[in-house]
Parts: sequence; structure tokens; C-alpha cells
Amino acid sequence: MSEFDLIARYFARPDRGHPPSVLLGVGDDCALLRPVQQQQAISMDMLVEGRHFLPGTDPIALGHKCLAVNLSDLAAMGARPVGFTLALALPDIDEDWLQGFSTGLFALADQHGCALIGGDTTKGPRTICITVFGELDAAGALLRSAARTGDDIWVSGTLGDARLALSYRLGERTLDENALAQCAPRMDRPTPRNELGMALVGVAHAAIDISDGFGGDLGHILTRSGVGATIDVDALPAGPTLARQPVTLRREYCVAGGDDYELCFTAPQAHRQAVLDAACRTQTLVTRVGCIDALPGLRLTDHSGSDLRLTYPSFDHFITP
Ligand code: ADP
Ligand code: MG
Repeated sequence: MSEFDLIARYFARPDRGHPPSVLLGVGDDCALLRPVQQQQAISMDMLVEGRHFLPGTDPIALGHKCLAVNLSDLAAMGARPVGFTLALALPDIDEDWLQGFSTGLFALADQHGCALIGGDTTKGPRTICITVFGELDAAGALLRSAARTGDDIWVSGTLGDARLALSYRLGERTLDENALAQCAPRMDRPTPRNELGMALVGVAHAAIDISDGFGGDLGHILTRSGVGATIDVDALPAGPTLARQPVTLRREYCVAGGDDYELCFTAPQAHRQAVLDAACRTQTLVTRVGCIDALPGLRLTDHSGSDLRLTYPSFDHFITP
């Protein structure tokens, strides 16, 4: 099979319509976009085998995940997904892998009305690089720099179960079959919170998606906004499997687990009901976990407000623990 046969068979989808802002998709030298909203949001994420996913990962789950992590960045800005490009390096043409990968990829793409508009395909160590394009109206994006003193801090969904599944797979701990069946999908098939993100425009101030761990990612909001925060670690919404683990592990994985792809956002206290309404409309769980302070730094307390003096490293590809 040639490179062009591969693209035509697995990625072209000539029979599919495009969203209104996509004039031309796969097949020419460039895709053509005609933005219908006022602002475009663009983000890129690269997944490398052995670094972001283990060799032998189910290709359907991988197709889902590599788009999900990109959609999650659009969610964190409150942008509506429009389209994406796909750069693929593959060690060989494995049709079972391509069939599974494209199935997982397009199932999620179609769910979000996000069209594949182009890409590049080459031979090499298995690497998947996606760029997503989204749109925002005049109300604008949820920026990391927009948190204000006195804001509530909220988290969508639950935290830590993806990290728990990873620790099992790395042989760091054991889990029974039921527990693993519950938490593994959180690692393999994360749910990007795009509907919630869009509903929060005009309601929330700052937002970020939690990919490297809640504490570290909230830290980006604090730095960019020039503020601090106090978090009730025991209010963090642990995943159902993690919630049954010892308290020290629950706290660690909620604060510093990573791979959650939930939203962390801040909103003025006067918008509490509006946040709950947005969550209800989009059928997404939200939990209030702390508040933004003028004093810089991140303070982690227990439920009674006592400082836990916890520090966890956030994930960084270039720092080996
Ligand atoms: P060129 O050599 O002009 O850059 P390519 O041969 O790389 O073009 O690609 C031909 C067409 O197929 C282009 O429209 C490109 O966007 C698309 N394409 C290539 N690889 C992929 C892919 N992995 N997914 C989607 N579209 C792809
Ligand atoms: Mg070209």
C-alpha cells in the first residue's frame, strides 16, 4: 500500500460533509478555512510511543486519546472545535492498527463536529501530532491570566483515577479486576470537557485543562494571573476507584496525578449559581475546591483548614524524578 492509498483509505472520508467554516479538507496542498466567528483558537499536541503511550496500546483508544488531549485544550479556552490536522509517523503499514486508530479518532471527532482537514504521513518511530482549530465569538477566551482575588476555584469531573491505572500498569501497585476496569478508561479514553468549557465563557474568569496534575496546572493560572490560592485537598473530587485508596495516596494523585483532562477554572463568587447552571446544562460534575488569594503561592489544607505542607512535583518531560 502506498502513502496515498493509506491516506485515501483511512483518513480522506470524501463522503463526509464539513462544518460551515471548512471550505476544503483533505486532498489538496492546503486545507481552506473561512472563520465564521471572531477569533480562532489553535493548539497542537504530540504523542510519542514509549513516552506518552506504551508500545502495544490499543489503537482504538489511542485514536481517541490523541484527539481528546487536543480537544481538551480548546475546552480550556472555551472554544468550539472546528477541525484538526494529523501528522503521523508509522514504523510500518499495519492495517489492523490503522483501522483501529482511525475508528477511535473519527468516533470522537464526529461527536464534537470536528473535521480532519489535512495532515502528513511518513515512516518513522510511531508518533502522532495533531493541531486543532477552534472558534470563539466576541466574548473571548478563558485565559490563564484572568483569575482575580476572591474567585472560587472549581474542578470538573473527578481526578486521579488515570494516575491510579498508570501506577498499576507500571507495576507500582496492585488493583483487583473490578477496580482496574473502573479506572483504566480514565487513562485510555479521557473525556474532553468542551461543552462545559463553551458554557463557561462569560461565567468563569480563568481556565486550564489538567494534563500534568491539578496542583501544577493551577500553578500556571496563579503565575500568569499574579495571584495565589488556598485549596482544600480533601474537597478535590477523587475518582471512584481512588476514593477507596488510603488518604495519602488519594491526596497525592488528586493533586499531582496527571492525565485527567478535566478543567480547573476560577469564577467570581457572585457566579456560583451560573457555574452550577452551566454544569447542569452540559451534564458535567463540578466541584468547588478553594479560592484565589492575593498572597502568591499555593496553600494545600485539609478539610479543617490546617496547612498540609504537601509538595508534589508536577510532570515535566525534561526533569527525571
Ligand atoms: P504534499 O506532498 O503536497 O504536502 P501530502 O502528500 O503530504 O501532500 O498529502 C496529500 C494530502 O493528504 C494533503 O491534503 C494532506 O493534507 C493529506 N494528508 C496527508 N497525510 C494525512 C493524514 N495523516 N491525515 C489526513 N490527511 C492527510
Ligand atoms: Mg503540497
